[in-house]
Amino acid sequence: MDLTNWIGCGPDNFLIISGPCGAETREQVLNTARQIAEIGKVQVFRAGVWKPRTRPGGFEGMGVPALQWLKEVKDRTGLKVMVEVATQIHVEQCLESGVDMLWIGARTTSNPFSVQEIAWALKGVDIPVLVKNPLNPDLNLWVGAIERIHKAGIKKIAAVHRGFFPFEKTRFRNNPGWEIAIELKSMFHELPVICDPSHMSGDAAWIGELSQKALDLNMNGLMIECHFDPVHALCDAKQQVTPKQLGEILDHLKYRVENSDDPQFQDILRDVRNEIDDIDTRLLELLSRRAKLSEKIGIEKFKKNISVLQLKRWEKMQKNRLELAKKLGLPDDFVMNLFQLVHKESIALQTRIMAQLR
Ligand code: PEP
Ligand code: MN
Repeated sequence: MDLTNWIGCGPDNFLIISGPCGAETREQVLNTARQIAEIGKVQVFRAGVWKPRTRPGGFEGMGVPALQWLKEVKDRTGLKVMVEVATQIHVEQCLESGVDMLWIGARTTSNPFSVQEIAWALKGVDIPVLVKNPLNPDLNLWVGAIERIHKAGIKKIAAVHRGFFPFEKTRFRNNPGWEIAIELKSMFHELPVICDPSHMSGDAAWIGELSQKALDLNMNGLMIECHFDPVHALCDAKQQVTPKQLGEILDHLKYRVENSDDPQFQDILRDVRNEIDDIDTRLLELLSRRAKLSEKIGIEKFKKNISVLQLKRWEKMQKNRLELAKKLGLPDDFVMNLFQLVHKESIALQTRIMAQLR
């Protein structure tokens, strides 16, 4: 994909999108937009006009009349406006109403039929399209949706990282899964990635922290839900900030740059990286030695007809490694994940060697 980094990154290019989860009334839309515009740091006003609700009966958006309110937002504040589209008709209605940018929601990205329908409706149109990650941590599904939009001829595409459905309870509504956004960025260097800390956290209290994390990871923008009266919002009330809170969050952000020419910094960076490269080499050498020992133990077990999996030994190992990790100041979950992988590989090696000997 020949993508363009049409947003850039760093303080001068960063794209800040904000607005309510849903457009509810003309007053709510105009009032929120006016206060957001007054902050002077937001370029795009977002509002859901059709809301994808998990269960029927909730607030499903005001539909076409809300598009008229967004036109007024443009005229009065100069902000660009952005709407979620999930069908061909949504796209057509947004284009007719002069909506400036579109986004595809997480539920829609999960469905290639819907994304393709949107892509067909976008043929020959020049409008920026932002593609949210799918609900499940499936990088290919995300890439696939971006590819469909790209194939329709859309030049300005960005990905929106809003986190993934959590299979276990965490403090966040959605599991950030930063590594998936990083993987996407390393596949497509020119693709701008924007963070949506509102849907990621599900709680206004964590928006500042997650926004900073997104900046630290060199993301290209933020999409933050903001409502002039969040307590009475008809959807996602808990995660929407007031315009005042939004201003404070944006004021506190520390923008990072990708590099610095400072020779002293460059020297330190080079030395530390050399040391890291050295450690990684030693880690790999040790892992290779460990793999040979796994094969050796596999042969011995085969001779005595002993099972590969030794649960008691594995439990003892985990306990011992965790104790050691604690002493060394390493986080439990990191060490557990690491040894689960190492152990899985050891089991695979022993199984393979036993099959060969059979
Ligand atoms: C939204 O942006 O309001 C929305 C519905 O988000 P998501 O698709 O990320 O759930
Ligand atoms: Mn929302």
